[in-house]
Amino acid sequence: MRIGYGWDSHEFKKGLPLKVGGVELEHTHGLAGHSDGDVLLHAITDALLGAIAAGDIGTFFPSEDARWKGADSVVFLRAAMEQVHRAGYMVANVDSTLILAEPKLSPHAKKIQARVAELLRIEPNCVGIKAKTPEGMGTDNAAIAHVTVLLLRRANKPRARMTAAAHAKRGARD
Ligand code: MG
Repeated sequence: MRIGYGWDSHEFKKGLPLKVGGVELEHTHGLAGHSDGDVLLHAITDALLGAIAAGDIGTFFPSEDARWKGADSVVFLRAAMEQVHRAGYMVANVDSTLILAEPKLSPHAKKIQARVAELLRIEPNCVGIKAKTPEGMGTDNAAIAHVTVLLLRRANKPRARMTAAAHAKRGARD
């Protein structure tokens, strides 16, 4: 198994759409960035890539590349999932903490959880969505996301034919 960690921050700007975890939320301000500024999807993408030591979001999607201007961050997450799949892993669970002054995320947590679960191909009860306000941090004009992810080796056909003893040995190694 592998563990991954991701972190991201984006600045609030008036009049932009606000997207968190692939869900658009009603708010006066949105998150500025080269892409759609989805701070949670960016941190999840980095956590996935970090878990398989495949670099980070900028490795695959450089911010100076005009193709990703205003891009839907789901594209980045899907690319990271493809890397995870190719490396022979699948997501077991993900946990996240968002730090932002406004808007209150708890009314939207279930919707964000369901969307992230769908994107990661796991059950909603394997997606932790937590939110805090930035007490004493002076970051009221930013949204910050911290994410950890656990990956498990995918079973494939040759491995499915392995003996129980070989599975036990491999399990100990992973
Ligand atoms: Mg970002």
